[in-house]
Amino acid sequence: MAPSDMDALTSGILRGNALPETEAASLADITKDGLPALCAAASELRDQGKGRTVTFSPKVFIPLTMLCRDFCGYCTFRRDPESAGDLYMSPEQILKVARAGQALGCTEALFTLGERPEQRYPEAKEWLVRRGYQTTLQYLTDMCRMVAEETSLLPHANPGTMSRREMAALRPYNPSMGMMLESTSPRLYQEGGPHEFAPSKRPRVRLRTLEIGGELGVPFTTGILVGIGETRLERVDALLEIRKLQDAHGHIQEVIIQNFRAKPNTPMGRNLDAQSEELLWTVAAARMILGPGMNLQVPPNLNAQDYQDYLGAGINDWGGVSPLTIDFVNPEAPWPGLAELRDRTQAMGFQLQPRLPVYPEYIGMAGGYLSQQMKSKIAAMTDDQGYVTGGIENYAGTS
Ligand code: SF4
Repeated sequence: MAPSDMDALTSGILRGNALPETEAASLADITKDGLPALCAAASELRDQGKGRTVTFSPKVFIPLTMLCRDFCGYCTFRRDPESAGDLYMSPEQILKVARAGQALGCTEALFTLGERPEQRYPEAKEWLVRRGYQTTLQYLTDMCRMVAEETSLLPHANPGTMSRREMAALRPYNPSMGMMLESTSPRLYQEGGPHEFAPSKRPRVRLRTLEIGGELGVPFTTGILVGIGETRLERVDALLEIRKLQDAHGHIQEVIIQNFRAKPNTPMGRNLDAQSEELLWTVAAARMILGPGMNLQVPPNLNAQDYQDYLGAGINDWGGVSPLTIDFVNPEAPWPGLAELRDRTQAMGFQLQPRLPVYPEYIGMAGGYLSQQMKSKIAAMTDDQGYVTGGIENYAGTS
């Protein structure tokens, strides 16, 4: 793309116009030479909407079950019953982790789990039925209720695809929920693709779950994966689908731009990791497509060497960072310490602020369905801007 074309593309967006869908594909033509100008425009757009505040959510990671009915080509999280150890975390195990996180100032209980394991494994079904549940989603709902009622943490459920009934049951205990769209490419679920044996990763099913979230008014986190075989144009397509959902319902509180990392002993173990330059392009393109108001995240633990560089491409959030639990989806990638995260963020000219799993501007939306008890809990945890009371200095090792 010629510099003059780039100027024409970005100047309208910086003046407050949404990038027209018909012009979004031209972002894919930006070469290495044009990348610094795209990143500069994306940064300016972020500054317009978010200023110089960068957030993270202090969390504990609760892998409720690692059993999963699906098989994604890049996943080391999923287990079979033979390799799982415990099929599900017990209520006692969950409370122990949540209370330990509470003692460290965590405010989010991230429930991440495999997709409907009871549909594949009789052992999972039996485990649930013995405890009075028919489905993993029912057990998850009860565990979210328990954590919401018995600790100071706020649940943020990521159970994969959900029906309307299942999401409605989770709502009272989840001020927000999450599900990565990952990609809208149909090629990825064809023969040999990473989603060939993962019916829950069909874009239509995932977009429908996100749409139900909008219909129910649930603040939702979603995002895309970069480097699993999709093209730039397919990434643009996925981001435009997210924008459509946001335009229709206003419930997309955050978009994660997550880079693929090859893991040994997986079908994609020999693939190349997503490259920094491609991730920078994707982050900047996402900011241009989604506009100044969107919260845009890159996970720092997946980019340990250069995560601060993505601030220069338009992000304003680091996502959940745990001082206690590992990232069970990427166990090889430790979270940065909070002091380091603060220092690298400040060195780039930004202030680091802890936030709840629901973003400040979405607390009102979530309050529409939360119990009075949950609303009071959130009010007691936040300052007048909706961030966690006390700020970053609250956390051990950062004062
Ligand atoms: S990525 Fe999620 S859905 Fe896919 S196999 Fe792993 S746990 Fe299952």
